[in-house]
Amino acid sequence: MSWGLSIEEAVKFHGHPGPWLLIGYRAGSIARSKLRPRDIHDLYCIVKVPNKVPYSCSIDGVQASACCTLGKGNIVTENGEDFEFVFVNRASGDVLRLRLRKSVVVKLQSFKSLEEAFNYVMGLGDWELFELS
Ligand SMILES: [Zn+2]
Repeated sequence: MSWGLSIEEAVKFHGHPGPWLLIGYRAGSIARSKLRPRDIHDLYCIVKVPNKVPYSCSIDGVQASACCTLGKGNIVTENGEDFEFVFVNRASGDVLRLRLRKSVVVKLQSFKSLEEAFNYVMGLGDWELFELS
C-alpha cells in the first residue's frame, strides 16, 4: 500500500497553497527518500519552527508527505528560530537533520502573494532549499 499525500492533496488538506506548507512537505519527502522508512511508524519528526502561522503551516506539510502525524504520535514541535526538521528512522536509527537555508527565509519575506512564494519554493532544488545541520 502506498502512503502519504500528493502535493495537491496536501494543499487540499491544509486549505491553501502556502510556501511553508510546501517547505514541510519537501522536508518530509527528502526524509522518505534518504531514510527509507518501511512503514508509517518508522519515521519520527521534530519540527523546530516559530510556533505561529505561517511557519507552523510546515507541520501540516510534514504530516502529509512523511506520515509523521499527531494522531500516531510520531511528530513533535519545538518553538524556535532554527527552521529545522529532524527526522529519525526508529527502525534503523538513522537521523536526518534538515535546516532551511537562511537565504530562503529572507527571500520569503519579499513576495506579495502566497502563490508567488509557493512557486518560488517549488522551483528550488532540495539542497537550494535545505542544508544538513
Ligand atoms: Zn498555511
